[in-house]
Amino acid sequence: MEIKFTTCSPKETANLGERLGRAIKGKCTLAFLGDLGAGKTCFTLGLAKGLEYFGEANSPTFAIVNEYLGGRLPIYHFDMYRITSEDDLYSVGFYDYLEQNGVTVVEWSENVDYALPPDTVFIEITVAGESKRNIVIKSNGDNDFLKEI
Ligand code: ADP
Ligand code: MG
Repeated sequence: MEIKFTTCSPKETANLGERLGRAIKGKCTLAFLGDLGAGKTCFTLGLAKGLEYFGEANSPTFAIVNEYLGGRLPIYHFDMYRITSEDDLYSVGFYDYLEQNGVTVVEWSENVDYALPPDTVFIEITVAGESKRNIVIKSNGDNDFLKEI
């Protein structure tokens, strides 16, 4: 399944993230593809809202993973920018997080493509102008909730 969107402001991108968050019913993995400044963190902040998480949320560039707890499902927000080996992945507990009943969100998923579950939902964000982003949400798995975005 593949769904395409275009957003014209950070707010619209966050709103799309929020709609996806609201559609999520259970455990899933979301993997971003997109350059620095594409809007991955912006989308994730909206997603957290859609999962009814209203606390603080920051891009985890320095922490590798941030946990947002207290919403409908726990959110595990990874930034894999500095992950260069599977050993690194084990040390941050990535595989343990995947087994939890939560939403695992992966920025810089390109760095860990071999470790992503087969039903991962990919969110590809391409810069199409100063404030314009093309966003493709796609999955090979059985992810019916995507129809509700
Ligand atoms: P990433 O996490 O992919 O590095 P961020 O979400 O941190 O990117 O930052 C995206 C940047 O792009 C922000 O400065 C934001 O204001 C800007 N921006 C401009 N237009 C958009 C848009 N349509 N969607 C998302 N971000 C946008
Ligand atoms: Mg980011």
